Amino acid sequence: MIIVMQPNADKEQIKYVEEQIKAFGFQAHPIYGEFKTVIGAIGDKTGFDPQVFLNMPGVETVVPIMKPYKLVSRELKSDNTIVDVNGVKIGGEKLISIAGPCAIESERQIMDIACAVKKAGADMLRGGAYKPRTSPYTFQGLGEDGLKLLAQAGRETGLRVVTEVVDPRDVELVASYADMLQIGARNMQNYRLLQEIGASKKPVILKRGISATIEEWLMAAEYILYNGNPNVVLCERGIRTYETATRNTLDLNAIPLLKELTHLPVIVDPSHATGLWRLIPSVSMGVIAAGADGLIIEVHNDPSHALSDGPQSILPERFAELMVNLKALAAIIGRSI
Ligand code: PEP
Ligand code: MN
Repeated sequence: MIIVMQPNADKEQIKYVEEQIKAFGFQAHPIYGEFKTVIGAIGDKTGFDPQVFLNMPGVETVVPIMKPYKLVSRELKSDNTIVDVNGVKIGGEKLISIAGPCAIESERQIMDIACAVKKAGADMLRGGAYKPRTSPYTFQGLGEDGLKLLAQAGRETGLRVVTEVVDPRDVELVASYADMLQIGARNMQNYRLLQEIGASKKPVILKRGISATIEEWLMAAEYILYNGNPNVVLCERGIRTYETATRNTLDLNAIPLLKELTHLPVIVDPSHATGLWRLIPSVSMGVIAAGADGLIIEVHNDPSHALSDGPQSILPERFAELMVNLKALAAIIGRSI
């Protein structure tokens, strides 16, 4: 880190800061300027809070140089992490597609959709049993009954299944039915949940929080790795901006930037990013071109009667069409699907 002294800092104050840098176990490298002195503090100290220098007399600012996250960073591990979800590998050359309804509604519904997306070439089935709904008056999910239906649909189609867990106390239960867990946008900073999922070692999709910066998102992933689980897939699902024409604003920048910052796989959820089913095919093509490792898409066989997120759900036939186009795109960018 670099400690920038105030223009009027005197020799005593500069000396004191240099001594403190050394006392904390760093090397001090001062540059004495005519108006301002800056002091580089060199050393590797995990868990050290650079803010402590701000309380010292004469200090103006502290500029951290190293990233606050370690385990998720490319600096630590340069090769891509491939997350293996019982045989489905996320983060390799092959793009992955996860499709299914927002919520599991009935045996018929999840079975029909599972068969349709399987036929279209999906790798995994999604479906929520515990729904974090904005309104308490809307459908909250079928709970454990929903998990049973999802697991059954997975068994009968051979698709791996992913579902959201909203409460740290449910991690074990949900993990007993699902191949992969999902942490929803609203829970990205639920640290107890992150710790619990870290300990479970179950592969997990970590969605970006509605107003989370990329650094906050990577710090959330860091929690999971720190607690023992390296199987994290990041999912960009749009952030809230001043724009109201779409449900959220997809942060396309995040994809190539994350590829620089972290070794973790990155997928995109165009359904929650846009909120509009008509936009899903073009946005899906765009994010794959930008370097995403896959997609998670809401597909419903009767969107107008869906119990949640109907307006952003595409029909199975549109999903099948999209898969054909993704295949052509994958060939151009040197990947497959
Ligand atoms: C979902 O996947 O259905 C969901 C609730 O997503 P998000 O957490 O991104 O809003
Ligand atoms: Mn949804």
